[in-house]
Amino acid sequence: MIELVSEDRCVQCKLCVKVCPTNVFDAGEDGIPVIARQEDCQTCFVCEAYCPVDALYVSPQADLPEHVEESDLIERGLLGSWREKIGWGPGRTKLAAIDTTAFIDRIHPVFGKQGKGIHTIR
Ligand code: SF4
Ligand code: SF4
Repeated sequence: MIELVSEDRCVQCKLCVKVCPTNVFDAGEDGIPVIARQEDCQTCFVCEAYCPVDALYVSPQADLPEHVEESDLIERGLLGSWREKIGWGPGRTKLAAIDTTAFIDRIHPVFGKQGKGIHTIR
């Protein structure tokens, strides 16, 4: 569930407001988004993935709000950590580039056999 927007990091691009599928954010008067409907959050992490400055924290705890402190999240390397984990952002390795899961074999067997570094799971 979305828990925090860092006012210090936010550059007011409104991307999170636009990409949220359940309209959780309102655009704040100062340009910093406000978590207006936290209960509608689907814990999809899309907003955190899109935030260009790692200003958002979505907790993996989907059912209940979790009290968080920004300083603690920063200290633990959690603010914007989902974006980092999936490799979005300059200089990061995209998750797709290191994923060797052989799902392509199941979707398209011929391509899967030709695919570089793709292994078949039986
Ligand atoms: S985690 Fe998904 S549903 Fe929740 S605020 Fe972010 S984009 Fe919206
Ligand atoms: S995506 Fe990040 S920088 Fe842009 S408005 Fe949302 S919190 Fe701020």
